[in-house]
Amino acid sequence: MITPQTKAELREALADARRQGKRIGLVPTMGYFHEGHLSLMRRGREDCDVVVVSLFVNPTQFGPAEDLDSYPRDEDSDTRLASLEGVDVLWMPTTEELYPEGFATVVEVDAGLTGVLDGAPDRRGPSHFRGVTTIVAKLFNCVQPDVAYFGRKDAQQALVIERMTRDLDFPIEIEVLPTIREPGGLAMSSRNAYLSESERGRALALSRALEAAEEGARGGETSTAALVDLAAEVLRNAGIEPEYVEARDAADLSPVATLNGRPVLLAVAAQVGEARLIDNVVIDPDQTAREA
Ligand code: AMP
Repeated sequence: MITPQTKAELREALADARRQGKRIGLVPTMGYFHEGHLSLMRRGREDCDVVVVSLFVNPTQFGPAEDLDSYPRDEDSDTRLASLEGVDVLWMPTTEELYPEGFATVVEVDAGLTGVLDGAPDRRGPSHFRGVTTIVAKLFNCVQPDVAYFGRKDAQQALVIERMTRDLDFPIEIEVLPTIREPGGLAMSSRNAYLSESERGRALALSRALEAAEEGARGGETSTAALVDLAAEVLRNAGIEPEYVEARDAADLSPVATLNGRPVLLAVAAQVGEARLIDNVVIDPDQTAREA
């Protein structure tokens, strides 16, 4: 595995592969790898000739009150884990490399996708997705992959990136892979590192809340408000006040009042101790009908 830093070194590292028409896969990350990240790398390894992982804690996607400075980092462990997964290129650019003096451009997807599920605006801020799309567009241009891998855990992020990719004609396939969970159901996240043992126990309420809503849907409940109530009750019982629990159309995030034959995204965000956690499930009526 090679570990370029600059854009020039990265381009040089990929030049031969590109000339030979090899299939290049990109896994964008902010590091502190867990099984969720590794699952994306593994899929890349299966599908591609060259697997590139970017590791960059992107300052522009953190809100004013968010955890940029304390965001967990462990480059040595990340390097070892990526190498064990057979990653070819681990790119760890510096902030100056990606945002040089005078940087003045942003990429922004319309508020229909980015202005919803925002939670507390003073924490996260509306600029979060602008930061995400701007950095991902830059990573796409620097790596020029054939395919890029993202996790369903960040379902809204995946939708926003799919839309940006289509709208700006990036010739890149976007693969969105399932959420990897701890044995108790907690969605893996680098931010789980902030949780104490007891907070980790309380955090299980997020996935349990989503399960309760899924269970409700399987039992025939079609009102999304009722499903949201089922989820909210589980959170309340665990002493968690969610930033949001919402049901939205899984394809375009428009509001949905009743399960209407289209997949519905049920998404939750909540602060547990120092960690802002998110989780989601997709309630797919076809699947619900099959399981009933
Ligand atoms: P991050 O380093 O948190 O920005 O995540 C990098 C990529 O890994 C994103 O595409 C995430 O959606 C994905 N990811 C993070 N956690 C998980 C998880 N538990 N399961 C699957 N993918 C994940």
